[in-house]
Amino acid sequence: MSDAITETSIEAKIDQINACVHCGYCLPACPTYLSTGNEGNSPRGRLYLIRDLIKGGVEDLGDTARGYLDNCLGCQACETSCPSGVEYIKLLEYAREERSQTHYNKGFWALVRRTAFQYFLPNRFLLNISRLGLRAMNAIYSTFPFLPKLVKIQPKLDFEYKQIETDRFYPSLSNLDNIDNPDHCLIFNLGCVMDTIYNQVHVDTIKLLNALGFHVYVPDSACCGALASHSGEFELGHKQRQEFMEKQVYNIDGLKINTIVSNSAGCGAFIKDEANELKVVDIAELLDVDNWQAPVSLDEFKASLMAKDDEAKLDVTYHPACHLNHAQGIQGVYEKLLSLVPSLNLKALYEADVCCGSAGFYNLIKPDMADDIGKRKAENIQNTEAKFVLTANPGCMSQIEAHLPEDYKVEHPISFLAKFL
Ligand code: SF4
Ligand code: SF4
Repeated sequence: MSDAITETSIEAKIDQINACVHCGYCLPACPTYLSTGNEGNSPRGRLYLIRDLIKGGVEDLGDTARGYLDNCLGCQACETSCPSGVEYIKLLEYAREERSQTHYNKGFWALVRRTAFQYFLPNRFLLNISRLGLRAMNAIYSTFPFLPKLVKIQPKLDFEYKQIETDRFYPSLSNLDNIDNPDHCLIFNLGCVMDTIYNQVHVDTIKLLNALGFHVYVPDSACCGALASHSGEFELGHKQRQEFMEKQVYNIDGLKINTIVSNSAGCGAFIKDEANELKVVDIAELLDVDNWQAPVSLDEFKASLMAKDDEAKLDVTYHPACHLNHAQGIQGVYEKLLSLVPSLNLKALYEADVCCGSAGFYNLIKPDMADDIGKRKAENIQNTEAKFVLTANPGCMSQIEAHLPEDYKVEHPISFLAKFL
């Protein structure tokens, strides 16, 4: 649990809850409210429940009330839309910690989840084995499609895994003159889920950063703890994040690198909270056309995007990942960047700012709700008539992919842009 929560008094928490003026602006932003139409599944309703929990303790909450709290995805869309600045997520973290002995942390999937956080995600060897396992399951399901699915949402993994060497420097050939400039050097972590199920995104990220003039150092890394924390295992997640950050001070042949870049919205949002002397940025921030930070000029980059101008226009839609959009407040960056691509026709997505239902392991813990939310997102995507979807988080990629027909393609915006280089 974050320090801010443990350190605030009961009165301060009640004050935070009372900051809610019940205006309801958060309701259309909340995926669980949109799915169920039930006030208990809304941010406003949950604030009442958290107040009951603070006043009466977890025993006073009935199963239905606990269910409403468990149903929250932690997407933070309610915070973005709240005119009163209610710090909902901190209160939710508190509530989840308080009722940690309830259903949410018991049972088969809770055990699977905890084992995965503690032993699998921090271990690259086990992650590679799990990828092979997922591939085997995909092969079995495609041969015997009538078999019952172990999990509703299984990534397709239809890519060739290209191992990225770690503890290695990938210098930019466009910018060798500045190899001694720490502002042009970045630490890039492979993390866990992105490398396991969408490894091509990492290959494309290094390619794009190098083309933009950044030198990229790839350390041997493990999970940063984001998944554990986003799934309610706050203590474990925060411990993993601390260990992760302590390993990140890099001094390569006298060159001290001071910026970590992430291409997974969830990881970036999480490690930013622990940033010490190191700066943590999401790759989208380096590509902000209004605040261009790459060594290679924006005009040069734009010129490469023009290269395929002769091609037929491709209809594309973009789903902003909640951890980019709401948690990090990075809004409109990819949309502006993509609008520079002449061969792309960016189609507006209805309810774009609403979560897709992925949220860490939510789709394992709450498969029915995740499925409902995923179907709504897929329907909105289909209404754009674009069959190409871009989104910058591995969880969103697999959730959206799983809910769309086979002829749709879901890609990270970095992979899309890397094709122009
Ligand atoms: S938008 Fe904020 S103030 Fe309004 S109901 Fe939601 S939480 Fe309360
Ligand atoms: S975090 Fe997301 S799911 Fe939870 S109450 Fe807020 S908008 Fe709804």
